[in-house]
Amino acid sequence: MDSLPGLPDLHRHLDGSLRPATVKALASAHGLEIPEPLGFFAGMGLRAALACFDFTLALLQQPEEVRRVAAEICEDAQAEGVTSLEIRFAPQLHRGAPAPEIVDAAIDGVAGRAGLILCGLYGEPPTVLEGHVAVAASRPQVVGIDLAGGPGSGDDWSLADYQTAYQQAREMGLGRTVHAGEGRPAAEIRQAVELLHAQRIGHGVSLLDDPELVAQVCERGITIEACLSSNLQTGAISSLAAHPIAAWLERGVSVCINTDNTLFSRVDAVSEHRLALQLPGMDDVRLAQAIACGHAALFRR
Ligand SMILES: [Zn+2]
Repeated sequence: MDSLPGLPDLHRHLDGSLRPATVKALASAHGLEIPEPLGFFAGMGLRAALACFDFTLALLQQPEEVRRVAAEICEDAQAEGVTSLEIRFAPQLHRGAPAPEIVDAAIDGVAGRAGLILCGLYGEPPTVLEGHVAVAASRPQVVGIDLAGGPGSGDDWSLADYQTAYQQAREMGLGRTVHAGEGRPAAEIRQAVELLHAQRIGHGVSLLDDPELVAQVCERGITIEACLSSNLQTGAISSLAAHPIAAWLERGVSVCINTDNTLFSRVDAVSEHRLALQLPGMDDVRLAQAIACGHAALFRR
């Protein structure tokens, strides 16, 4: 495929997708030194990858900073040819204002160019995510909720404890995605599907370990949000060739290709779609299939 059609990007984190120039400007304004290297590298592991967000979040505490980055992400995605865009973030991590004000700042920055997904975090009290659902109720620009990060051994709350928030979202017609099976067993994906009624799964790399679940994912029309470079860097896959995207498409699973974090992974929507095309089992037809899946899986309210 010489030129790519309008692309989807449904899994792009606000706090991992700043422009390098904006990182510089905000770090300077805050008198902070930029850690070197700032970003993911192959084999670093999920924990170290998640720690990268500590620095960018320090730059994004105020509503104005959130507004700016949300706007820039929309401009960048548009320049990449993205025509279906969703941006996600966890408003509770931006403490310069109450969560509804942070969400409104993002809405303002996006200005109708993307849907917003509000993230709860693994291990966090479920009331936080339930609060996001309440914030979304009066804001149609918020199109979905997500559970992000990853489970920790000392967590007081498990995936099942977020059922109330997901049920409320479901009743409201709010989209539901979950980071699941990101280098963790397929049982986590199953829980996300069966307990949280997820319509999309972030990463889901272990899906094929459970053939019955694969059938269920196909039957329910659940879309897997694949993030190739990110998966390699966090160690969720051992090599790019080991990514199951081609096998998923072959089995009829709905799969889309996403950036996850353009800053940290040094990617954009074009580079990730081109990368997918290089994987064993991928060809123009399968790439077109993934692109169509992404557009179709956009959350609509
Ligand atoms: Zn993610």
